[in-house]
Amino acid sequence: MSISRRQFLKGVAGSGLVLAAGVSSTEARMSKKLPPEAVGLLYDATLCIGCKSCMVNCKIYNSVPGGALYKEGVASGVTDSLRCSKTEQTEKMASPPYETDGIEGNEGVWDAAEDLSGKTLSIIKAYRNGSGERKDTPVNGHAFFKQQCLHCITPACVSVCPAGAFVKDPHNGVVYYEAYRCIGCRYCQIACPFNIPRYEWDSVWPEVRKCQLCHHRFKEGKYSACAEFCPTGATIFGKVVELREEAKRRFNLKPGSRYDYPIRTLGAKEVNTRTVAPYADRIYGLNEAGGTQNLMLSGISFDLLGFSKKIPDSALPDLTWAYIAKIPWVFLAVFVGGTGIHAITGRLDKNRKEKGGGHD
Ligand code: SF4
Ligand code: SF4
Ligand code: SF4
Repeated sequence: MSISRRQFLKGVAGSGLVLAAGVSSTEARMSKKLPPEAVGLLYDATLCIGCKSCMVNCKIYNSVPGGALYKEGVASGVTDSLRCSKTEQTEKMASPPYETDGIEGNEGVWDAAEDLSGKTLSIIKAYRNGSGERKDTPVNGHAFFKQQCLHCITPACVSVCPAGAFVKDPHNGVVYYEAYRCIGCRYCQIACPFNIPRYEWDSVWPEVRKCQLCHHRFKEGKYSACAEFCPTGATIFGKVVELREEAKRRFNLKPGSRYDYPIRTLGAKEVNTRTVAPYADRIYGLNEAGGTQNLMLSGISFDLLGFSKKIPDSALPDLTWAYIAKIPWVFLAVFVGGTGIHAITGRLDKNRKEKGGGHD
């Protein structure tokens, strides 16, 4: 049975205990196995040139209906709907949400996101040490790295969501979000060991944002936009079992040898033939938090790049809810937050009714 966001809010706002009940049932449904047709990305930082084509195209192709940045017109809030027509409003929301403010010299010319946000689902960041001369070298070197949802095999965000707004596709393993169910508690943010989900703080009707692997494009035979538009093959899309094999193969290559790196998808005819750089550490995502569907390779230690050292190799969901439920302030915050959202929702509903609109 599915319930709307508003129906859920009305039921939940007065009782944190109901949340606990919802989480328990979600936990019970969690699988720790890789789904049969699991797909994901392999990001190889040694191939990344920092062009950010992946970021720009992520915004473009996720601002369309079905995309992770798209928001249906009426759900955006009464204020907007009063100011412009439905058509104007839909166009406005379908525009890629570039972040162009606050950067000296950038007069709206380029997207200058500094971190993941309600407008940015993936980000390329830079590492630099000393003179920064040599790529993929920890001392006096530089490197790029990518941050986005890793699509955990056993996702903590799904396990703690009391409203069932976070879902793991049992077939392809994509972890996606259904905004109409979200109650705004932001447990998903607290639970994610990789600090990925972001909240739309500046929206009248906020939603949680994160990469959904462009699953809205799958039915058209397309795949992740970041992989499709990466010119070097640094980000490629494929089946997880094959991506794991490819990652292990690369990890064992002899530095200085030549290798044909496929571009866009694993097994693609178009390749980027280049000299192999030494890989550091490990294949990120093979074991972290029980394993993830997105994998990463880097010439620089992931610890140096700022990835948390505290993430265990075991799946987290069994632990997460038990942990969160014992933090009184979190529980209290959810109670107060839920009540606040209920009040806001009620006010928005009242305004809509007065204007003759309605949305469930
Ligand atoms: S990385 Fe975080 S948001 Fe993504 S699936 Fe894992 S727990 Fe969820
Ligand atoms: S797979 Fe994720 S990061 Fe890549 S373009 Fe799609 S939404 Fe963006
Ligand atoms: S992953 Fe590819 S598209 Fe993204 S910045 Fe690196 S080279 Fe450019």
